[in-house]
Amino acid sequence: MPLYEYVCDDCQMRFEALRSFSQADDLLPCPRCQSERTKRTISRFVAFSKTSGETAGRSLGGNPCAACSADSCATCR
Ligand SMILES: [Zn+2]
Repeated sequence: MPLYEYVCDDCQMRFEALRSFSQADDLLPCPRCQSERTKRTISRFVAFSKTSGETAGRSLGGNPCAACSADSCATCR
């Protein structure tokens, strides 16, 4: 089961969750503020494999930072 990383829009908390692929895009409330305005961000697994090709991460979809350059954005790291 892959590890996904989420970020809360309200309090900016990052948290991780082990979820199946079918659950990956389901809503996951923030553990700190209970906000439902969370979004899935790039996981460590995907970030790690990024070294073998940047398109690999983008092809997975759901990356909120796909439009920015990876080295200048804190969200991408
Ligand atoms: Zn939050």
